[in-house]
Amino acid sequence: CGIVGYTGPRRAVPILLGGLAKLEYRGYDSAGIAVLEDGVIKVHKQAGKLAGLAEKLQGYNGQARTGIGHTRWATHGRPSDTNAHPHIDCSGRFAVVHNGIIENYLELREWLGSQGHQFTSETDTEVLPHLVEHFYRGDLVEAVCRVVEHIRGSYAMVVLSADEPEKLVAVRQDSPLVVGLGQGENFLASDIPALLAHTRRTYILDDGEMAVLTPEEVRIFNRSGEPVEKRVFEVKWEA
Ligand code: GLU
Repeated sequence: CGIVGYTGPRRAVPILLGGLAKLEYRGYDSAGIAVLEDGVIKVHKQAGKLAGLAEKLQGYNGQARTGIGHTRWATHGRPSDTNAHPHIDCSGRFAVVHNGIIENYLELREWLGSQGHQFTSETDTEVLPHLVEHFYRGDLVEAVCRVVEHIRGSYAMVVLSADEPEKLVAVRQDSPLVVGLGQGENFLASDIPALLAHTRRTYILDDGEMAVLTPEEVRIFNRSGEPVEKRVFEVKWEA
């Protein structure tokens, strides 16, 4: 039910956990993060409170500087460690967090299954990393565009790839998603309060828009892949 993302020079784990804590008011049954560490995606996730995950990660001194995080409000598949997000593909090179519902996930799952993909969760979300893997030809943005062509439903999702470190690709359709603009670092969150510890400069994504984040820049595209000139929304109020 909540999403966060970070790419920049600082350690990602505390930033992701701090952001998720600010989204707790939205309600959730599980929490998880995926970070890129030495070129490998590491997933830490479990059912239950965020405090449980934070406790598990206490003393974690990994140096990951890119990552995504999620609090889940289960719609497809019960609350469990396995069903918690992030979800990854078979190769472990792509991790996805998702809010919303992929309506045609059953047919996608069947089709991906026939292509040799194996699933470990009961969620609608798990088709997403497998679809990214299926369409990936060396360009994450292009792969995510192809995924969007094949899914129906509501989503805010963020994709992290071991093949393109430091990059986050996010899209939204009928689920909120906001970009936080930092200096030499950039952020993603479902809602503004999760960004305010770091920045007040934001892009509020509209339906069908895609955001591509690196530490240095954020680019926004529309559904047809054309660049969008987005206005910076400066947050004036206090959290
Ligand atoms: N439909 C997804 C699931 O059940 C995402 C739920 C959410 O928005 O947190 O895992």
